[in-house]
Formats: sequence, C-alpha cells, structure tokens
Amino acid sequence: MKLVTFRHGGQTGAGFLDGDQIVVCATGDASVTAVRDLIAKEDGPKRWLAMAGQAPRVALGAATLLAPIPEPRRNIFCVGKNYRAHAAEFHASGFDSSAQEQVPSAPVIFSKATTAVVGPDAPVRGSLDPTASVDYEGELGVVIGKIAFQVPEDAAMEHVFGFVIVNDVTSRELQRRHNQWLIGKGLDSFCPMGPWLVTADEVPDVGAMELTTRINGELRQNARVADLIFDIPTLIATLSRTMTLLPGDIIATGTPEGVGIGFKPPRYLNKGDRMAVSITGLGVLENTIA
Ligand code: ZN
Repeated sequence: MKLVTFRHGGQTGAGFLDGDQIVVCATGDASVTAVRDLIAKEDGPKRWLAMAGQAPRVALGAATLLAPIPEPRRNIFCVGKNYRAHAAEFHASGFDSSAQEQVPSAPVIFSKATTAVVGPDAPVRGSLDPTASVDYEGELGVVIGKIAFQVPEDAAMEHVFGFVIVNDVTSRELQRRHNQWLIGKGLDSFCPMGPWLVTADEVPDVGAMELTTRINGELRQNARVADLIFDIPTLIATLSRTMTLLPGDIIATGTPEGVGIGFKPPRYLNKGDRMAVSITGLGVLENTIA
C-alpha cells in the first residue's frame, strides 16, 4: 500500500492510492494522525484495504499531498556519515565537527525536530538560514511498525512497517557554528517527506533500491541502499539496544556522496532551486527553496 495524507477542498484527509485515485479512509482533524494511528494497529492496513469498495475517492492530481506522517510523535532519527564516499567528502569539507575519524566505527545518530516536517512540493524556507548555506541530503526513511526494544539484527526487519523518502535539508554553517547537528538540521520546513509511505511488502529487496537526487534537473547523488555502512538491521538493533522505538518512528538512514559541500567551492542552494529525490518504488519527492 501507498499511504498518503492530503488536503482537498479545504479539508485534510488520509488514505491509500489505488492507481491515480486516493481511497479516502479518514477525514477531518483526526486524519492528520490517521497514518500514524494506522501503523500502531496490528490490522490497520487490512482495515483500510477493506474500505476500498465503499470509501469516497479523490483524484490524486486534485489533492495537495502532505507528508504521509505530517506530525510525527517525536523527532526523526537520523544517521550521519552512513555511506563511505559521503563520509569521505564530509570529512574533507571541514564541516565535520562531530568526530576525528572519517568513517565512523559505530552509527552516528542525531535527530530532526518534528516541526521541520513538510510534504511534497511544500516550500523549504531557505530564508530562515541566516548563513545562506542550505544543502540537500536525499535519504531513505525507515518507518517502524512495532514497539522495538533490544531487537537483534536478525529480527529487525520484522519491526519495519514501510519506507518513505526524506530530504535531510541542512544549514551547513549552523551545523558547524554550533558544533552539533540539531540546530543546523531542525529549521522549520527542513525535513521534506513523501510523497507516500510505502508498506514493506511492496519492497522485495531493500538493498537494491536506488536513490538519486537532482538539483534543477542535474544529477548530484546516485547510490544503492546496499552501499550503507550500517544497514537497516544494524541501525534498528543499535537504537533499540537502549531505547524503545515506537510505531511510527522514522529513521532517516543517511545520505550518499554528492551533497553541496562535497564541491569546491560548496554549491549551496538558492531561492528557486528545485530538489528532486527519487528512490526505486517510493516515487519522487520534489521541493523548491523559498
Ligand atoms: Zn542526513
């Protein structure tokens, strides 16, 4: 299933895609958290599927998509330096205040504020960055489906509900100035997510998924998920070893080589620049810098 949250006719709704139509399973205030609530229920997706016959429908093209989980329950978990070539470019850029080692020996984890989340085509407010050093990071997001505590690697994938594209937009100078990743990555609108949340049963081979990021049509990032230094089972095992992961939690798994600071001089984003992140089977997430 491809789960969506959307606006149409002045109302918010949530549902799933059937071809180029949205089967509307929730409307009104509750629909903002409907996908999150569905994930928490064991038979949630089945219940929605059963509504396909009688539920109202909206043409996908007539709706404005929001992030599939517009209001995550807590911060988005993120992984730094999780592709080898990106770890090298980030280390060489001089912006890495986090560590001495180029390739981390254990996953580097930080988070993005829930209030940074926006949907496809929503403007990313580059003007909020006083240092004008906005950069993109196309990433695969993993959505947790079941409470996970001390989950071993070989059972980790059973706790995955699905996948979504995340763009971990970053202010590089704020990241460097404050010697951390929270302020530089938590700016309002700096976490585009979508266009839909794809359930795990529709992704037969996670490692084979290919990620690309284009800026104004120019290919900047191109990698396979199999290139991750710390794979998804390792990330879930690492996080859940000491902290309970909850249904609806999102883990952005890291970005590959090709971000703006990888260039000399850095190629930061400007007003009007169009970012397009695509991942096999997950669609394309496009946003413009405002
Ligand atoms: Zn990132």
